[in-house]
Amino acid sequence: MNLHEYQARDILKRHGIPVPDGDVAETPDQARAIAQRLGGKVVVKAQVHAGGRGKAGGVKLAAQPDEAAAHASRILGMTIKGLTVHKVLVAPATDIASESYVGIIVDRGSQRPVLMVSDAGGIDIEEVAGTTPERIHRLAIDPRYGLLPHQGLGLALRLYRDLAQARSAAAIMANLYAAFYAVGASLAEINPLAVTPDGRVVALDAKIVIDDNELGRRPEIAALRDTSAEAPSEVQAREAGLTFVKLDGSVGCCVNGAGLAMATMDLVKYYGGAPANFLDIGGSSNPQKVVDALRIITADPHVKAILFNIFGGITRGDDVANGIVQATRQFPLAVPLVIRLTGTNEAEAVQILRQAGFSALTDMDEAVRQAVAQAAA
Ligand code: GDP
Ligand code: MN
Repeated sequence: MNLHEYQARDILKRHGIPVPDGDVAETPDQARAIAQRLGGKVVVKAQVHAGGRGKAGGVKLAAQPDEAAAHASRILGMTIKGLTVHKVLVAPATDIASESYVGIIVDRGSQRPVLMVSDAGGIDIEEVAGTTPERIHRLAIDPRYGLLPHQGLGLALRLYRDLAQARSAAAIMANLYAAFYAVGASLAEINPLAVTPDGRVVALDAKIVIDDNELGRRPEIAALRDTSAEAPSEVQAREAGLTFVKLDGSVGCCVNGAGLAMATMDLVKYYGGAPANFLDIGGSSNPQKVVDALRIITADPHVKAILFNIFGGITRGDDVANGIVQATRQFPLAVPLVIRLTGTNEAEAVQILRQAGFSALTDMDEAVRQAVAQAAA
């Protein structure tokens, strides 16, 4: 689950990281009032679950309250990477002498949280990794001991010559790790971590992604979810109990089981197509889940063909077939459907599908090849 910058800032602040004051506005008038209260120059920032807001025109400095309101009215309603801006953060503008990057991610390779720092701050870290990877320094943190003081200071000294600044940055790294751990994050990043002309080190941007598996035991973090900022299809899928991730290809995928769903996506790619989504209808057997899944997949205008890949174990083929037939009675599918189905109650499923005018394949490769061809036609 993604957090907004203003939510991530609150978490960092609670963990002792210096973050400028500020508040969230949903209208230009509210933005003006916040700017008035703060006094002086402010920065108006789009609150969407996307990076690169600065480049997209979603971060603007304002000298006085009316200008803050004007920026807010331009930024509110703007779309950044396909997401509409509903809120802006209004914060005192900070003078910047230098910008660096500090982030923690869960790293599969080392199976540990990895602290990454770079003196190339303010730029997307992916870009730094691509063009000047030598400017990124990494440290795998042993979760038994956490980030040890000398480790943090060692990394901080790669960013700052000034010992006082390095000590401030090291304290921020320690607090960032504490915050990362406390909220169950898979990513926590500060970019830029800025040094002011008078030598203070402050977090000017904050990004936190929460591991969804941590939400169950952290209701206060789960409550931070902003469904208005998420892709509508992902919200619908979550409410329907489906595991769904929207992607940008043209083959809509409806699969039972996460492993088979991943294998299906790999095979779609292998045969030259691109999946429009990851969708796992789960192990349970329920025609309604199939109806919900098809409703979500067909709502995506990029979908040119739909591929069912069902290996019936606990999932019953007849339930899936009934779901498909029920869906076609409720709304038009509009795109070709390729069904691969084997396993539990396969014969019943084939019978139900045949009566409704559909055929089913048993070979996975063949089904994927057909779906890719249909999507390209
Ligand atoms: P992002 O583009 O989505 O990562 O948004 P950021 O919050 O990182 O803002 C983008 C850029 O705007 C930063 O790298 C800074 O250069 C600039 N910026 C953000 N806040 C301030 C501020 O308070 N003062 C100044 N001068 N620049 C800022
Ligand atoms: Mn940033």
